[in-house]
Amino acid sequence: MVSSTEVTGQTTPSGIDDSVARALASGFGGDVLHRGDAGFAEVAPVWNGMIEHTPTLIARCSSAQDVSRAVRFAADNNLYPAVRGGAHNIAGTATCRDGLVIDLSPMREVTVDPQQGRAWAGGGATWADLDRATQPHGLAAPGGLVSKTGIAGLTLGGGLGWLRRKHGLSCDNLVAAEVVTADGQIFTASEKENSDLLWGLRGGGGNFGVVTKFEYALHPVGPEVMFSFTLYPLESGRQVLQGWHEFCQAAPDEVTSIVLCGTVPEEEPFPPDIHRRQFVALATMYAGPVEDGRRILSPLQALGEPLCDFSSPAPYLEIQSNFDGDYPDGRRYYWKSLYLKQFDETVIDQVLQLAAERPSSLSTVDVWQLGGTMGRIPADATAFGDRGAPYLLGVESNWDDPAEDTRNRDWTRAACARMERFSNGNSYLNFEPDSVPVEQDSAREQRLCRLKRLYDPDNLFRQNHNIRPV
Ligand SMILES: Cc1cc2nc3c(=O)[nH]c(=O)nc-3n(C[C@H](O)[C@H](O)[C@H](O)COP(=O)(O)OP(=O)(O)OC[C@H]3O[C@@H](n4cnc5c(N)ncnc54)[C@H](O)[C@@H]3O)c2cc1C
Repeated sequence: MVSSTEVTGQTTPSGIDDSVARALASGFGGDVLHRGDAGFAEVAPVWNGMIEHTPTLIARCSSAQDVSRAVRFAADNNLYPAVRGGAHNIAGTATCRDGLVIDLSPMREVTVDPQQGRAWAGGGATWADLDRATQPHGLAAPGGLVSKTGIAGLTLGGGLGWLRRKHGLSCDNLVAAEVVTADGQIFTASEKENSDLLWGLRGGGGNFGVVTKFEYALHPVGPEVMFSFTLYPLESGRQVLQGWHEFCQAAPDEVTSIVLCGTVPEEEPFPPDIHRRQFVALATMYAGPVEDGRRILSPLQALGEPLCDFSSPAPYLEIQSNFDGDYPDGRRYYWKSLYLKQFDETVIDQVLQLAAERPSSLSTVDVWQLGGTMGRIPADATAFGDRGAPYLLGVESNWDDPAEDTRNRDWTRAACARMERFSNGNSYLNFEPDSVPVEQDSAREQRLCRLKRLYDPDNLFRQNHNIRPV
């Protein structure tokens, strides 16, 4: 069996003529924007400035019926649509060249039932939308670290956030979904109805249909939580990372931590005397009582002589947008990742060396602490697959000058190639700009292919990390 999570692109025929476009617009509840229409140029770009495709049509959906109509239109006209949630995918799969974008970004409504501990969010909602609706009730669904990202792409690909070790991945907390499949039908996927489809949506990406509504399980979180954020000089990185690793091994599930190796930007709130210094930062959230968090996270602030320390209790909502400013729309981005199976001295030295070699001062080398609740969920429980790795290495290249594209992309690839021997060979698809082979003939791969054949036999949804139906 041959299959891959290949990021496919440019699969649409060039151009869609006007009369065909008009057929989609008639009876459509939202707006259908044709290239050149007022508002088109503002809506068309995606977050990553490296992605320069322009679609011909953008179907700005306002309901599941609009989505169904757009999907049928795509199938009837042999178009392979791009599906857009928050438009933050690193591979730029929310757009396509000369084709149709099914845009869910107008569908951002969120409703919350605090008694039941459930939230329902439209397929175009962002984490900011969801968190703003749930936090007034002291509740949250596990999301990501940046509030501008879409709930859709992040959840369908897994979802690593500050609650992953306490409450699991975002996809683990997806309890039901409304889905428009490739034939335009609207399905509910839950444990009771079409449970195979729910299994596939929990980590299988946008392969099986367009999700118009996500239902999440919510958990008591905040509104205030302890956040530890300490920057150390890169030169003391070995001691800091060894201490961090020891701390992580004994940490309770309430603790979720990430290492960020970067360069101090020349801006507030960083003191001027440390601007442009290379750092190793430990960012950690405690998902429990603030005072417990203050005590339990305090060793992370004493692993060396800090450059600066911003550790403090803070509203969960604020923590959810702490890093938003580091990822402006339109900057150039190329990220890759690897699940690490070890974190010994050799790996630590390699991580620090990579950090010192970054071609762009905007880039970071990150290590995500995994395990806890997300790690205990069996590999076959969701399409996300194996969760056994203790850490995830993220190599995030971020830069502004197009002339630097090749240098940054090549460096990111070489960095991951160098670290491959310390990994289990897998990467996190939500941080992946390129094709990634799936483990051939595994039970997971066979189940994914079976589902794809059932819900999208002609591979209409291929503008993604693609599961082929055969
Ligand atoms: C700044 C930034 C920070 C990030 N931080 C994290 C993080 O902390 N944790 C983490 O796990 N990931 C993180 N990511 C990665 C993120 O999970 C992916 O980029 C994800 O694809 C973004 O989702 P989106 O809806 O914004 O993407 P889009 O680009 O809109 O969509 C990506 C793909 O998802 C599918 N899709 C989108 N919407 C739908 C839908 N409604 N129905 C069906 N399929 C759909 C399509 O295949 C589409 O091509 C981050 C990304 C960025 C850019």
